[in-house]
Amino acid sequence: KDPDKPCIAICAGISCLGLGNGDVISAFKEEIRKRSLEAEVDVIATGCHGFCEKGPIVVINPEEICYLEVKPEDVPEIISQTVIEKKVINRLVYTDPLSGEKATHMSEIPFYKNQMRVLIGHNSKINPKSIEDYLAMGGYSALAKALLGMSPVQVLDEIKKANLRGRGGGGFPAGSKWETTRNAPEEVKYVIVNAHEGEPGAFMDRALFQGNPHSVLEGLMIGAYAIGSHQGFIYTRHDTPELRKNLDIALAQAEEYGLLGKNILGSGFDLKVEVHFDVGIFVSGESSALMRSIEGKVPEPRPKYIRTSVSGIWDRPSNLNNVETWANVPLIISRGSEWYNSIGTERSKGTKLISLSGHVCNSAVVEVPMGTSLRDIVYDFGGGIPNGKKLKAIHFGGPMGGTIPESLIDNPLDFDVLSKLGASMGAGDMLMMDEDTCLVEVARYFLDFLSGESCGKCVPCREGIRQMLNILTNMTKGKGVEGDIELLEELSEVIGEAALCSLGRSVQKPLLSMLKHFRDEFEAHIKEQR
Ligand code: SF4
Repeated sequence: KDPDKPCIAICAGISCLGLGNGDVISAFKEEIRKRSLEAEVDVIATGCHGFCEKGPIVVINPEEICYLEVKPEDVPEIISQTVIEKKVINRLVYTDPLSGEKATHMSEIPFYKNQMRVLIGHNSKINPKSIEDYLAMGGYSALAKALLGMSPVQVLDEIKKANLRGRGGGGFPAGSKWETTRNAPEEVKYVIVNAHEGEPGAFMDRALFQGNPHSVLEGLMIGAYAIGSHQGFIYTRHDTPELRKNLDIALAQAEEYGLLGKNILGSGFDLKVEVHFDVGIFVSGESSALMRSIEGKVPEPRPKYIRTSVSGIWDRPSNLNNVETWANVPLIISRGSEWYNSIGTERSKGTKLISLSGHVCNSAVVEVPMGTSLRDIVYDFGGGIPNGKKLKAIHFGGPMGGTIPESLIDNPLDFDVLSKLGASMGAGDMLMMDEDTCLVEVARYFLDFLSGESCGKCVPCREGIRQMLNILTNMTKGKGVEGDIELLEELSEVIGEAALCSLGRSVQKPLLSMLKHFRDEFEAHIKEQR
C-alpha cells in the first residue's frame, strides 16, 4: 500500500450507521466516480471511530483530518477542498463547546488526545475487509514471532508475566486459565472467542471485532499455539450482519495467506476456526451454555463446579476468552510483557475499552489505561451530564453488574477497586444516571430484562427473579409494604447461593449494590406509600 495515497475513511460503526453513514459512503463513492479519481483516492467503510455522538465521522488519511457530523451534501466540498486542494473545512472540524477552539486532526481532538488507543486506534485507518491493511500496520507479526521464534510454553509465560486479566467480566488471569487447559490430560483441546455481547449498553466488543477482525483472530491463533489446540471457535450473535461479513472475509483471507489451516507459516502448527451463531437469547453468552450451543444443543447452562477450561465442548478442555482479551495477545507478544505491565495499576494492567451510554453528553467507545479515574471517563471523554444535570450514579456491567454513587467517582478504573465498591467492571459498559433517575425503577428494569432471559432450568432463578420483580414493580406503583426490602435481600441471598449458573447467581447484584449505596431511596418509596 502507498502510505501517501489519500484515503477517505468513513466510520461504519453501529451509531454512525443509525446516523446515516450509508448515504455518506454512497455520496463519496459517487463523487469519486464522477471525478474519475478511483485510482488516486481510496474510499473505505471502517470500524467504529468511537466518538459516536458526533457521527457520521469521516477521516481523511494520511493527514488524519477529522470531520464530524458529515452529511451527503458536504461530500463534493470535502473532495474538492480537502482531498484535492489540501484545505481544511472549518465548519466540519471539532469545536470546543467552552473555548470555541477548533481541532482539525484526530490526535488534537480532546476526546481522542487523552485516550490510549492501542486496541482500537487502527479502526480509523484500516479497511476491516482487507488483510493487506492489517499487514501494513504490522499485523500478524506477533503470530510469526510466536510460531517461528518461541515455544508454546514461552508464549504462555509471556502472557502470565503480562498479568493479562480476562476482559469478559470476572477479571480472571488469562495465563492461568490457558495453563489449566494446556495441562488438562485430554489431547484434543479447544479455544473460543466469546463475541456474544448481549448486555444493554455494551457495544465495545463489536466496535473492536467488526473494525479489526484480524487483531482478534491473531490473538486466538497465538493462544491456540500456546495451549496446544488445533480447533478454534468464534461464538457471536446472529443479528450482527456487518460483523459476520467482515469475519467471514477475514477468515477466508487468513486461510488464503497461509495463516490458518495446515502448517501455518511453515511452523508445523495447524489450526481450523469455525464461526457459530447464537439463537437470540442472552444466556447463550454464559460459558457453559455457549459451549452447549456450539455442540448444537439447547444453550442451557450447567453447574459451575465443572470448569469448562477442563471439561467444556464435548467435555474436552476448552479455553474461552472474550474479544478484547484475545485482541490484547498480539500486542503483548510483539511489545513484550514489560511494556504491558507499564500500563495500568498494580493489579489491573493494560488498557480497557469502555462503552459510555445513558445520561452522558458523548455516547462513545473509549480506550483508556486501567487506573484512569472514573471522573475523567465521565467528564473528559463522556463530556459530562447533559442539560446541566448532576451525575447521580454509574452502573457497570449491565443487568448482572453493580452501581456506585457519584461520591465514589474519584476512584480508578480497576478490577479490584470496583469490586470492593460493590460493582464490577463487567465487560466495560458504563451507564450514567443523572439526578432525576429513580434507582428503584432501574433495579426493576434489570430484573424485568433478566426475567425474560432466564432459561428457566432451575427454580431459584426462574421463580426468584419473578418474585423480586413483583416486589419492585409494586414499589414503583405505590404498592410497596414494610418488609419488602428485607424480603428482597433474603431472595437475593437464596438465588445467589442456589441458582445453577452465573446468570442466576448474579441477578441480585445490581439491586444489592443499589441497596448498599441508595437504601434510603428504596425506604422512601415504601414510606411515601404508607
Ligand atoms: Fe437457567 Fe437461571 Fe438456572 Fe442459569 S440460573 S440455569 S439462567 S434458570
